[in-house]
Amino acid sequence: MPNHRLILTIAVLFPHALAAQRSIEYDISFPNAANHEARVVMIVRGITPGQPVEARMSRSSPGRYGASSFGKNVYDVTATDGRGRALKISRPDTHGWTLRKHDGTVRISYTVWGDRIDGSYLSIDHAHAHMNMPATFMYVPSMVSVPIKLTIHPLSGWKIATQLAPTRDPLVFTAPNYQWFMDSPTEVGPLTMRTWSETHNGKASTWRIAMHHLGTEAQLDSFTVMGRRVVDEAIAVWGAPAGYDLGTYTFIIDYLPWASGDGMEHRNSTIISSSRAGLNDQTRRVSALGTFSHEFFHSWNMERLRSKEIEPFDFARENMSGELWLGEGFTNYYGPLIIRRAGFYSNDAFLRELSGEIIGTINSPARKHGSPVDMSRQAPFFDGGAASDPTNRQNTFISYYTWGSVVAMGLDLTLREKYGKSLDEYMRRLWKNYGSHQSPAFAPSRPYTLANLRDELGALTGDSQFANSFFARYVEGRDVPDFATLLEPAGIRLVVDSVEKPYLGASMDDDTTRVFINWSQEGGSMYDAGISSGDLVYSIDDIPTPSMDSLNAVVARHKIGDVVKADVEQCRMRHTVPMTIRGRREMKIATYESLGLPVTPKVLEFRKSWLESKL
Ligand SMILES: [Zn+2]
Repeated sequence: MPNHRLILTIAVLFPHALAAQRSIEYDISFPNAANHEARVVMIVRGITPGQPVEARMSRSSPGRYGASSFGKNVYDVTATDGRGRALKISRPDTHGWTLRKHDGTVRISYTVWGDRIDGSYLSIDHAHAHMNMPATFMYVPSMVSVPIKLTIHPLSGWKIATQLAPTRDPLVFTAPNYQWFMDSPTEVGPLTMRTWSETHNGKASTWRIAMHHLGTEAQLDSFTVMGRRVVDEAIAVWGAPAGYDLGTYTFIIDYLPWASGDGMEHRNSTIISSSRAGLNDQTRRVSALGTFSHEFFHSWNMERLRSKEIEPFDFARENMSGELWLGEGFTNYYGPLIIRRAGFYSNDAFLRELSGEIIGTINSPARKHGSPVDMSRQAPFFDGGAASDPTNRQNTFISYYTWGSVVAMGLDLTLREKYGKSLDEYMRRLWKNYGSHQSPAFAPSRPYTLANLRDELGALTGDSQFANSFFARYVEGRDVPDFATLLEPAGIRLVVDSVEKPYLGASMDDDTTRVFINWSQEGGSMYDAGISSGDLVYSIDDIPTPSMDSLNAVVARHKIGDVVKADVEQCRMRHTVPMTIRGRREMKIATYESLGLPVTPKVLEFRKSWLESKL
């Protein structure tokens, strides 16, 4: 799209951007990029003269639910007013800077440091500036709805990729408000771009891939063809693109050996990072599609179809929602399903993505402690909220990504088998009644509640009793859908071993003289014997166990229910404890083909409707 057209669009969409007196302007430069520093100048205009104004660093970043302390990397903060007079800075707390006695304008300068490439933080180095906005820019809580202008001073050879609105000046971008600005990660570096456009229902949309990688142009070309196919299959689930605010969706991708693996969704873009250097071969390109597919699905599910509990996103604290099993979990199901439909996964590859999630959820002791709704609410502890003290998560937490994808698959199969419908239809219904409704300020105007989700399932099936029972058992309850039955029409079997095998249920290490216990899990032999994190195991029934292999071998010789004598060190005390050998049945999920069972035309038909292309 030519530039003049965009500027016109911005003037229409953001009328205040050109007229308002209250405004915030940022200028960012990289005079010391080699040492990971950027210099930011923030000019706040239109404040009542003398009225205290507080600038803050965010405590959270959109899409990451835990609390961060971005202020820890901000220093050398100085401030003047509009006439250039130095202002005294007072600190209300560790995240804020307060200025008084100004003339209605304040100009705050600071250095910000960052050396982490992912979807939440800031990274500046020789190669690029990778900016997640909350980690980079202060904000003024009393002025969250004023328009924002950002000027970027790239180093030589650096290009800019962002969902922010472009202007006539290629180094200047705008945002209508603070929420939208913070939602617009920006990569400045030696980017390679690919662009394509499509028209759906008479409306044109453009997609851009802006990639920073060490691979070749040809590799990016191959990946773009594959990515486009994934985009089209995702659109087919929902019926139309999500309706990007300025008509364009940008994939910002960093494949750099020093990057952290991550992907983060935003309204009109995603920021993806991985330590893979490039897209050297087809295997790597297919593996790269995983995050690509997941994050793009979020442009509907999460960015626009959104839980009321996290709308609007609160930048001052952690964000909690009981519906991440849908926002993340259903996305976690569709990510690989769309890659399968796009033809880049086989049925077996698709099953591999989901079978570990299903078996892990069935076996997890955490189901005794909460439901998918409860797990969703723990996201602030486990998503970006790194703690220095350990947790009991191996017993109390199942990721809402994992459990949510299990709920999604269970629901999809149930809808197909019992009602002749599909999860695609459920998602489209949620889109029509909730997600497609957006405010002029580019925010969801009809976020959903759990009750809304239940009601829509009842309406889709015409069976509110089923919807109530499904939610009571599998969403607010702790049951797992009956995959032993549900998978069969697809020619897939949940195979459960007929015999129980001895089960220690512990994460272990060894130093070739003894075994260290990292943690033990409820229902396992060790947990039940009170052998837990930090304990050391020397022998079982006087047979030395200097390694994990030797320990497993001794235990494997026993029958379920045998009581053995474990020689352990606990809290520096060496003693023996009785340990009853507990058992567990192994499970696997396999196609009829791999089990040598006949695949009927009915099975093939079912698979076609579920797994084949919708284009
Ligand atoms: Zn996600």
